[in-house]
Amino acid sequence: MSTKQTITDRTMSAMVMEVPGQPLRLKTIPIPVPAARQVLVKIIACGVCRTDLHIMDSELAQPKLPLIPGHEIIGKIVQLGTTASKFKIGDLVGIPWLAYTCGQCKYCRREQENLCENALFTGYTLDGGYAEYTVAFEDFCFSMPARYGNPSGAPLLCAGLIGYRSYKMAGPHADRLGIYGFGAAAHILIQVALHQGKKIYAFTKNGDRDAQLFATALGAEWSGDSTASPPELLDAAIIFAPVGSLVTQALKYTDKGGSVVCGGIHMSDIPSFSYELLWGERMIRSVANLTRKDGLEFIALASQVPVKTETKLFPLHEANEALAAVRGGSVQGAVVLVM
Ligand SMILES: [Zn+2]
Ligand SMILES: [Zn+2]
Repeated sequence: MSTKQTITDRTMSAMVMEVPGQPLRLKTIPIPVPAARQVLVKIIACGVCRTDLHIMDSELAQPKLPLIPGHEIIGKIVQLGTTASKFKIGDLVGIPWLAYTCGQCKYCRREQENLCENALFTGYTLDGGYAEYTVAFEDFCFSMPARYGNPSGAPLLCAGLIGYRSYKMAGPHADRLGIYGFGAAAHILIQVALHQGKKIYAFTKNGDRDAQLFATALGAEWSGDSTASPPELLDAAIIFAPVGSLVTQALKYTDKGGSVVCGGIHMSDIPSFSYELLWGERMIRSVANLTRKDGLEFIALASQVPVKTETKLFPLHEANEALAAVRGGSVQGAVVLVM
């Protein structure tokens, strides 16, 4: 009996969104079959990201339905599509949010594949990682270092990657870097930034002592409420919390020439503000998705630091509880589903 028959004749458990706004349902469904340039991956763990909540809350339009969410996947390849050749059976891979780009549109042709007109996204327009198996295009899977072949590696695939792209957008001169929202992305990014000699100023939800202590324990120069003034002007700020008013708050404490980078995919409205806050060549920008180049750079860097993630683990069938934990913001570090 061939590998193909033994795997794809079987079924798997998956947590499925049938209708946005409703809890996910545990279902038994056929294991997907990889297309020619895809691989079938047996999932070890999948991170739970705030973006998953934005999808379930209909803040992101037109998801695939029914949908298996999840885009921070660590797993091992168990089957290759007919023309897949980048990996071999047993290889450890990470599957990120960016699932496919066309390679043809103007963005793809100018090295901005994160903005591709025809992009597909894991756990949004394609099924993702809240399941025992998934298929992915081999060109969009990352080879992962063995140290991340466990649940600790999962948060690197979005929290880590988007954090890293946001960090790059903050610019090379951002020696004093503010971070608004000290969750999964921030707890990874601080390790990378400290490794590169930066100082981190961590802003949390007002009164969230636990998060402030967590930031300090990880080496933050200063931590405090999101409405507090840092002890000095900052060279740049990254906002991970989905709260638009933090943009103007961060601008107030950003030095001339500095950037305020919005790292989330969705944010509440940004209040109007005086031009004076922006004057002095300050910049506001968003970060959308990732490129494969970001991924390769970040995974190499994570391994070098080495980044250690703090995780709270939930079994697959408790995905709704895991999502509630992300929504509540009470978990230090990242929430991860284990299969
Ligand atoms: Zn494209
Ligand atoms: Zn994400």
